Amino acid sequence: MTDHLCKTCGQPLTSDEIALHRKLFGMAAREYLCLDCQAEYLNVERSRLEKTIEMYHRSGICVLFAKWEES
Ligand SMILES: [Zn+2]
Repeated sequence: MTDHLCKTCGQPLTSDEIALHRKLFGMAAREYLCLDCQAEYLNVERSRLEKTIEMYHRSGICVLFAKWEES
């Protein structure tokens, strides 16, 4: 849980959404978008972004994404 809200729609963000945002838009970002708004901004399906998140979780190579097994 974080205190961040989506820059566009004001929805509370999950750590996954923030991690993906940093991955896609750069580490320097200080404002973030929720998954829906990221998908709209990038003009891709939301499900595609969800798959990307899942991929990072499974690979464990990206430190932004905690491995699911640990929780
Ligand atoms: Zn949003």
